[in-house]
Amino acid sequence: MVNLPKASCNDAILDRYLNKDLTPEEKLFLKAHLDHCQRCRCKLEVMITIARNFRDIVQSALNEEDFAGLEKEICTAAVQQVRIKKGPPRIITFLKVILAISIIAGVLLLCATLQL
Ligand SMILES: [Zn+2]
Repeated sequence: MVNLPKASCNDAILDRYLNKDLTPEEKLFLKAHLDHCQRCRCKLEVMITIARNFRDIVQSALNEEDFAGLEKEICTAAVQQVRIKKGPPRIITFLKVILAISIIAGVLLLCATLQL
């Protein structure tokens, strides 16, 4: 087995391999390189193990989280925001104006009646 010179080692291509972002030509280059470079094989193996462990940790944390409760909180907050932005219904505002006008008219009528 012949080791390729260190200059042909390329950590970026290992990262891109993990992200499934290699062209077919790059895959062939990497495969040929890994056949001869123990350093890159070991490094890639470590990177795969770390990625797998990280994924397992994230999945475990996701499984423990109560997303139903969180979803309910978000929906409740969103509904409250919509209600705050919309303000009271228009009919309520209209009725308040009519009530105020009626009270003023009643007071004026009362004053006019008492002065007679
Ligand atoms: Zn290498």
